[in-house]
Amino acid sequence: MTAGGSATIYALSSPPGRGGVAVVRVSGDAAREALRRLTGMEGAVPARTARLCYLRDPHDGAPIDRAMVLWFPAPRSFTGEDLVEFHVHGGLAVVAGVLTALSRVPTARLAEPGEFSRRAFLNGKLDLTGAEAIADLVDAETEAQRRQALRQMDGALRAVYEEWRSRLLRALAQCEASIDFVDEDDVPDDLAAQAGVELGAIEEEMRRHLADGRRGERLRDGISVVLLGPPNVGKSSLLNQIAGRDAAIVSSRAGTTRDLIEVHVDLGGYPVVLVDTAGLRDSVDEVEQEGVRRARARAEQADIRLLIYDGSTAEGRPDFADLEEGVSLLVANKSDLVEAPIGDGLAVSAKTGAGIEALLDRLEGVVEERYGLGEAPVLTRARHREAVGEALAAIERSHAAPSPELAAEDLRLATRAIGRITGRVDVEDVLDVIFAEFCIGK
Ligand code: GDP
Repeated sequence: MTAGGSATIYALSSPPGRGGVAVVRVSGDAAREALRRLTGMEGAVPARTARLCYLRDPHDGAPIDRAMVLWFPAPRSFTGEDLVEFHVHGGLAVVAGVLTALSRVPTARLAEPGEFSRRAFLNGKLDLTGAEAIADLVDAETEAQRRQALRQMDGALRAVYEEWRSRLLRALAQCEASIDFVDEDDVPDDLAAQAGVELGAIEEEMRRHLADGRRGERLRDGISVVLLGPPNVGKSSLLNQIAGRDAAIVSSRAGTTRDLIEVHVDLGGYPVVLVDTAGLRDSVDEVEQEGVRRARARAEQADIRLLIYDGSTAEGRPDFADLEEGVSLLVANKSDLVEAPIGDGLAVSAKTGAGIEALLDRLEGVVEERYGLGEAPVLTRARHREAVGEALAAIERSHAAPSPELAAEDLRLATRAIGRITGRVDVEDVLDVIFAEFCIGK
């Protein structure tokens, strides 16, 4: 499959704005022509070798910049097409000058978001999990996110799915053969039995793959840790205390409602979103009731809960009974007011900062245990989860199918569902969704 005959595309591939170096990429049949027009290089240009030269506007020959130029003839390029990279000085006028010069190259046009990666996919340079991994690597804000994306880019996830797909295809072939051999006595049973054993093994692996506690997805999106407790126990103060540790902050933004505040922190390389909720108590005030309702809803979705209470009062630890399911840490705040806080919560003081380090260590331990990268590659997107779920359901259906023909049809559906993840089949409809995540120049 090639994207031959398509327009030549160009774009700034480095971030917009001023910088030491900016990289402009050109990909497609006219890339060679773009190189000739801007640099005047005729004849055989050495491939994949850095060359320093003047770039000129083909319109009037005026110099734009002195730049480093790299020529990647097809198919050994990122996109699989002829590709040129201009490494210019990262100034706004320089970049604008190069883009204008490129606009004068016949058939060349500005690339759309993700178009370089899309061409790489269409030319077989990347599978879809690889393309998604590039997007994730560019978006990675923490160490664990980077490691996961890199592993996926190197094909860890693709290997799992492609292996399942080829084993499913084999089982399907055996199943089909057993239909063809239906008149000959012993062949069908044997083949069907072989396929059955293999399918059982695949199902088991798929179930394990799905029961991963959504590690990969959480690592991409951030692990949510919700702060829960009655009003005035110091939830907001605690959040501020944690957020105030400059090193921890990745970004902070107000939540979607006035009742929820989110702070994004990097906890030992893991992306964690701390969520402060409105005080949990029964209220007659309608607005507050709504806040409580949202807080409870958020708490239900949270990956980890910090159950906070005021350790300085005689009331001590409130009854968190209905919230204690799932992963939670009990925290006794305001430990500065008493010698020993009441109850069995971890003693902290949002006021003095005492115990906060220990709390973060504990939290990091929990996060690492639940979301740390193990040996087995994990799925990183809902798209993968849906497809594996669909495949598993189809295999399960195949066992109960009333005829071998229908069982084979179920296996075909399972194979397709898995093939969609890496982009081997029916992908047109998902391409727009996947590559829309990219920005221009990727
Ligand atoms: P929230 O309603 O749970 O978010 O509680 P706030 O963070 O608004 O705190 C309620 C009150 O408790 C405020 O007056 C804080 O200054 C105070 N407070 C919070 N944490 C501590 C603490 O660790 N020690 C002391 N002495 N006061 C605290």
